[in-house]
Parts: sequence; structure tokens; C-alpha cells
Amino acid sequence: MSALFYKKTVNTILGSLAVSIALIPAIASADGEVSLYSARKEKLIKPLLDKFTASTGITVNLVTGKADALLKRLEVEGQNSPADLFITTDAGRLHRGKVAGVLQKVESDILNKAIPENLRDKDGMWFGLSQRARPIMYVKSKVKFEELSTYEALADDKWKNRICIRGSGNIYNQSLVASMIANIGAEKTEAWAKKFVANFARPPKGGDRDQIKAAAAGQCDIAIANTYYLGKMIHGKDEAQKKAADAVAVFWPNQADRGAHVNISGISMTKAAKNKENAQKLMEFLVNKESQEWYASSNYEYPVLAGTKWTDTLTSWGKFKADGLNLSKLGELNADAVKLMDRSLWK
Ligand code: FE
Repeated sequence: MSALFYKKTVNTILGSLAVSIALIPAIASADGEVSLYSARKEKLIKPLLDKFTASTGITVNLVTGKADALLKRLEVEGQNSPADLFITTDAGRLHRGKVAGVLQKVESDILNKAIPENLRDKDGMWFGLSQRARPIMYVKSKVKFEELSTYEALADDKWKNRICIRGSGNIYNQSLVASMIANIGAEKTEAWAKKFVANFARPPKGGDRDQIKAAAAGQCDIAIANTYYLGKMIHGKDEAQKKAADAVAVFWPNQADRGAHVNISGISMTKAAKNKENAQKLMEFLVNKESQEWYASSNYEYPVLAGTKWTDTLTSWGKFKADGLNLSKLGELNADAVKLMDRSLWK
């Protein structure tokens, strides 16, 4: 009895010793902080940052702002920038950061394994965290599924005065056009753009949600928009938006060839980063399974990590083939795309 008691006590002591030993180095290496400039709204990133802090003890200083303003700030601050990381949407913008010289290369097996090659910079300057798809949306009562096929086919005369899409100043459209230049060449893309623009139901105005609303209100039959806007309209509190979202369906174009256009939200380490180790830990945390599931459920974006569970909303839009183009191309061809859109009178 006493021998058993003794054994138990020793085990307990050893057990708690093991716990203390395990905890000491974890606490010692977990101090410190990491600073993040984010063009994503606070509610779309903060919950994940809190989880990161809870599991690592690393404090995250978050500054949110508009993408181009934050990029400018990184340039002006130079090596004095307090930011270690930069999060923004659109590969085109991440490329701007790369060209501006405010980013630095990260070599991480975890990132390279989790993120498909086409969704990260070939030089390790930025990494996709979530995918954002930009398919065709059509008014169910006016357009039959069978009438649709590709982005290219929207140049057909049958779509005259039936298409709503936002302006050419918007980087989502610039990236869509850049993807077409990369895939079918500048000449064909320009011939397409001229006819496509001629089919617009109205001069471009508003954001992606406005195109869906206009379609539902009868101003056009086709809207081009990112799917997460549709998700937000379906699940939001605004009844009018819910009704508008209900009127349209998602069509995945170019499924017989290159696939539907996708873009990313992504992360970069800044050139000025002072907390490099913590910064890399956070980058890697954002591609783990739980973080990736969170992206898909909170903002209706598609995970980059293969095998991540989709929510019912994503599932309801169906599986699709995504364009496998290396998204570095969207940045490299951005200036060409902008000029081409200008020449095509895309306002
Ligand atoms: Fe957006």
C-alpha cells in the first residue's frame, strides 16, 4: 500500500516536473510580438490573430487600412517601418509591393507545402492565404444555364445591353483581363474586350454587390462578381440584398478549357521586418487546417490548403475547375491590362 502510494506520488511529481520542463522553454521562446499591416477588415482577420496569440503567446499589433495606402506607407517608412507583415487582397497588389521593394523573401517548407505553386510568388515574396473566385452570375429567370460557356463568349452580340460589371479602375477586373492576356494573348483579349464592353448594360459604377443588385433589379441579365460578395448578401441582415442574391445563380466559365478566374488574398513579410521569426510563425499559422477552414466559413472564400472542408454555401455553388495560371502573371501583366481596357473604352 505504502509502496504503491510512493510510486503514485513519484509519478505525479515526475509528471508535473515534465509539464514544467515542457512549459519553461515554450514560455521563454513565446515572448515578443509581431506587427501586421492589413488591408483586410479587422473582423476578417482579428479572430485568427487572437487564436495565434492564445496558442503561441506572441502579441499581434494590427493596423488596418486601404491596400494602396498601406503600400504607400510601407514605402515611405522604409527600413523604419514597424510592420513585419503585410496582408492584402489581389495578387496584382502583392506584386506592386514586390516591385516597390518593400517585401522580403521567405523560405518555408510549411508554406510551400500548404500553398499550391501557382498561388504564391515564385521568388517567395508573397503567399496566397485564400482564393477568391470571379465567375459569371446570371439572373435565373432570364438566362438559361446552357446559354453560358466562357468569359470570351460574353462578347457575343446576344449579350448586348445585358452585362453589368464594375469599372476598369478596379484591380479585380484588371486581374481578370491580365489572366486573359496570359491565357489567350493580348490581341485576342483586346478584340474580346472591345465587344464585351459594347455589351455593357450601363456605364460601370459601384462595387461587385451593386452589379448583382442591378441584375436582380432588371438592369442587366449577367453580373461579374466575386462569389464571397454573393455569400455576404445571402447571409447578411439586409433583406433587399438577400432577395437580390436569390435571383442570381453562379456559372463557372471556361470549364472545358483553362478554368474560372481566381485571385487570392495573401501575405508578405516586409523588408523592414524586425520580428522575422514570429512573423514567419504567423504566416505558417494562417495556412494550418483550422485557419483555412475559418477563411472558408467567415468570408465565403476558398481555402488554399487542399482537403480543407467547404461550408454549405461554397458547396451550394458547386465544384469548379480554377484557372491554374501562376498568379505572378496578374501583377506582371497589370499595366498591359490597364492600357488594353482603356483602349477598349472600359470606363
Ligand atoms: Fe472585395
